[in-house]
Amino acid sequence: LKALEVMRRSYGRGGRRGSVLESRAFGELAITDISKNLIKVFYLDEEFRKRQWVDGGIRPHPVKKCGLVGAGVMGGGIAQLLGYYDIPVRIKDINYEALKKALLTAYDMFEHALKRKKLRKHQADYKFGLLSPTITYRGFENSDIVIEAVAEDLNIKQKVFKELSEVVSPKAILASNTSSLPIIEMAQAANSPDRVVGLHFFNPVHLMPLIEIIRSAKTSDETLAATIAFARRIGKVVIVVKDVPGFLINRILFSYLNEAGFLLEEGMALERVDKIARDFGMPMGPIELIDEVGVDVGYKVAKILESAYGPR
Ligand code: NAD
Repeated sequence: LKALEVMRRSYGRGGRRGSVLESRAFGELAITDISKNLIKVFYLDEEFRKRQWVDGGIRPHPVKKCGLVGAGVMGGGIAQLLGYYDIPVRIKDINYEALKKALLTAYDMFEHALKRKKLRKHQADYKFGLLSPTITYRGFENSDIVIEAVAEDLNIKQKVFKELSEVVSPKAILASNTSSLPIIEMAQAANSPDRVVGLHFFNPVHLMPLIEIIRSAKTSDETLAATIAFARRIGKVVIVVKDVPGFLINRILFSYLNEAGFLLEEGMALERVDKIARDFGMPMGPIELIDEVGVDVGYKVAKILESAYGPR
């Protein structure tokens, strides 16, 4: 906006005047907190793109094929992302409807990339063709990593980890996309707890650059190294976090969402809550975000955080 303003004020009035206005505007912007914070964010981002979280001597096992369990909001997005990065993915759900919806979502996203000329037709067709749906575990045997994205319920997740342990190769990594449940509880249900890790994507999967990798007390260095390399290959900025309720991001995010809830309780209109957050610079308001995440998913996560950290 400042650049436009400089142009408007200097257009047709000579280069010297333009230069003076420009250097003055630059000087004003360069000393603001916004400028300093953006520079800090840039350097942090650069650092995290390269940071070595494990012993650099470990050669990560490459991921050539992926399994995915749960084709809901997150599963559909993860499947599309994997296809986009040319990784074949076998997607399992318990019903055909979910699989159909996930494939349609992925298809629409490839169409969108085609329209925006990010992909050519044959590329979009090829990538979409890498997604293969199923309601059994057939085709999971040779997956290098399986990502679990079923409902946020420990019993269901433990059952899935037990079932997966019986079908995947003993070398395969089992990763959970849980938002809040302890990774160690899922690891204990698996045959090789050292190969279980948290791999927490954010919604919408193809747009959010960050991914949390959660290391449980049992996760091995080899598993961690391979998961980090895989996450970077699919374009994500990695942070490795401890296995605590809410990990890092939801622990921060839910305090913020909770505060929005308190404001509603005190009688503030929801449009106003969202507007204030957007005016402050958030890409969307907290109420809209709760809606995007899914009120049901958010409620479950909030309950888990409450039991860990108390009613606050
Ligand atoms: P969702 O309800 O949209 O999808 C869950 C899917 O899992 C459904 O299609 C269901 O049919 C399927 N399913 C249930 N049991 C199954 C089983 N035994 N085998 C195979 N499929 C099974 O949920 P979601 O929003 O995609 O969330 C999935 C996971 O991702 C949760 O752990 C959630 O906490 C986490 N997560 C969600 C978000 C979000 O914004 N929604 C963000 C990050 C992480």
